[in-house]
Amino acid sequence: MRVAGVADIGGTNTRVALVREDGLILSMERFKTPAGTDPDEVSARVGASLSCLAGISPSGLCGIGVSVAGPVDIKTGCIVTPPNMPFDQVPIISPLKKVFGLPVTLLNDCRAAVLGEVFVGGGREYQHVVYITISTGIGGGVYTNGEVLLGREGNAGEIGHFTVESKYSQRCSCGCFGHWEGCASGRGIPRFFQTWCRFHGHVSRLKTAKEVLNAASQGDPVALEFSDVLAMVNSRGLSTVIVAYDPEIIILDGPIVTAHREIIVNSAIKYLDSYLKTPEIVISPLGGNAPLLGVAAAVFSREV
Ligand SMILES: [Zn+2]
Repeated sequence: MRVAGVADIGGTNTRVALVREDGLILSMERFKTPAGTDPDEVSARVGASLSCLAGISPSGLCGIGVSVAGPVDIKTGCIVTPPNMPFDQVPIISPLKKVFGLPVTLLNDCRAAVLGEVFVGGGREYQHVVYITISTGIGGGVYTNGEVLLGREGNAGEIGHFTVESKYSQRCSCGCFGHWEGCASGRGIPRFFQTWCRFHGHVSRLKTAKEVLNAASQGDPVALEFSDVLAMVNSRGLSTVIVAYDPEIIILDGPIVTAHREIIVNSAIKYLDSYLKTPEIVISPLGGNAPLLGVAAAVFSREV
């Protein structure tokens, strides 16, 4: 059975793994994503880790796949303006191709993740799937008519930057106001909560998304009132996804979703628009491995 060498490069951590054609992860290594002064350090560290996992014959791999958080340019094979590195472009495809002599596939992590869900997760047997992760940021991947939607440079489906809120002028990490990520991501929730508290004259010491959501779960009246605003924001995001992509199924992932399913998912569903048929809405069964498995799927499908 064929084996792909894959990496998932996050803002903080990178995971490198060998994945078999049936979706089994054979081995995995984790390390801090290099944030140094040399843009080639990332691909060098990934290459060293892949060589180590694959043993003396990395040429036994059928290909290499790399998924990254943030924008990519799949034409030049580079990460674009990575969040924790002071570079405009970080080359991935050409240095790995040079070392291994194998085809190298680069995808944004959410575009990879939707492929992972279709490969071995909640999206099997579906032709129209949207993957959404709510973690530090909010990202999405769209699979439609049997293909992942990539766009010009591989960045289609950046749903975290849909405008979903206009009353509180909450700033997003991208600098715009009212974006889904700015209001409802792990980084956005505590900021939006503070903005909302100031607007309504509440005083609260809750500082993190976890504190705010836990307080709401425990019945804190201020956090509970805010959680209803958050539910409306999430329903605006989901409703926009539904009319934009008409999916059969939406697969939600990320620690905010898995730890607070009632507040984040169930509360939002009751506010959904009903213009189009509501798709199935489920939680990812892949335990955070959707990007790694998906970029492996991309390697295998390219090989065939
Ligand atoms: Zn934004």
